[in-house]
Amino acid sequence: MQGFGTTIFAEMSALATRTGAVNLGQGFPDTDGPQVMLEAAVDAIRSGRNQYPPGPGVPELLAAVAGHQRRFYGIPVDPSSEVLVTAGATEAIAATVLALCEPGDEVVTFEPYYDSYAATIALAGAQRRTSVLRFPDFAVDEASLRAAFSPRTRLVLLNTPHNPTGKVFTRAELELIAALAREHDAWVVTDEVYEHLVFDGLEHVPMATLPGMAERTLTISSAGKTFSATGWKVGWLTGPAEAVTAVRTVKQFLTYVASGPFQPAVATALDLPDEVYAGLSTSLQAKRGLLCEGLEGAGLTVARPSGTYFVVADAAPLGVTDAVDFCRRMPELCGVVGVPVSVFHDDVDAARTLVRFAFCKRDDVLHEAVRRLSGLT
Ligand code: GLN
Repeated sequence: MQGFGTTIFAEMSALATRTGAVNLGQGFPDTDGPQVMLEAAVDAIRSGRNQYPPGPGVPELLAAVAGHQRRFYGIPVDPSSEVLVTAGATEAIAATVLALCEPGDEVVTFEPYYDSYAATIALAGAQRRTSVLRFPDFAVDEASLRAAFSPRTRLVLLNTPHNPTGKVFTRAELELIAALAREHDAWVVTDEVYEHLVFDGLEHVPMATLPGMAERTLTISSAGKTFSATGWKVGWLTGPAEAVTAVRTVKQFLTYVASGPFQPAVATALDLPDEVYAGLSTSLQAKRGLLCEGLEGAGLTVARPSGTYFVVADAAPLGVTDAVDFCRRMPELCGVVGVPVSVFHDDVDAARTLVRFAFCKRDDVLHEAVRRLSGLT
């Protein structure tokens, strides 16, 4: 694991704390999720659900995850064999890659990639093969994606909606990925933690809904994003029973089980009406507008995101040539923290001057950030 130091999120949050800058770096909301969910967690603690829960997850959460997949996407899921509750999506990703890959296998993914992907692939002794999504539209480049596949491809690690770009993969792009996965007899592991954070009436298309894909797709999500509870670390995985069993075998020896009292609380949240889900994306869409306009006003070029709570902006028009250095100096330059996108790349030249900002913050915090950013010009 040499080369994998402190994560950029920890570094930038520490920088924000140390300098008093507005932290638009690490992605976490500064308001809580649904009140009934919070109360359900308190009730679970008070009623003594504080010991090891069952390995696969508590029955009501398994049922709620299966119910969610059926309700939103029409995907049939058997709660007793096709769901696994994990310690956040992070563990679901790690346990899946460790379960499916042998040393020397190849994992196809897109860059920029979420930071745990590279580390997890390395832990499994596998190799990553990437295709670059390029600023500002981040479209899939068919030729480079095809070139990333080989006879050694074991799985594709996909993320839609995509962190850090805010891209929502189109159905046509997903069909191309699916066709290549079928051609190479590869699994698709799809990280859909931002599934409900999609804007402008766009549709999130789960990979498992494409023809012939349910049998080779493992779908991952998390309460962290959907219910603004990143600190609870409750995630889950759904897919074919045999593969879920393999992942569960690995998970047993990583964390054994996931946190007890938060699981029934997340089950309560998953069963909430559609308006609760829609409410978060509506509020985030307005925040997206606020921050994007602020960044443009400060002279950056913005790639308006279709999903997630991140926006990537190019600082080159401000004369910036290295976003890593710029992000380290941003607290003193303007009192705001962002994250350099190049740390999520192998091809750092593809993102030399790009910065990611999070907009999952209260409006007053975003207004203050925008006011401070305007000092850059
Ligand atoms: N997913 C969050 C982000 O992208 C942070 C997660 C973390 O700190 N590991 O900012």
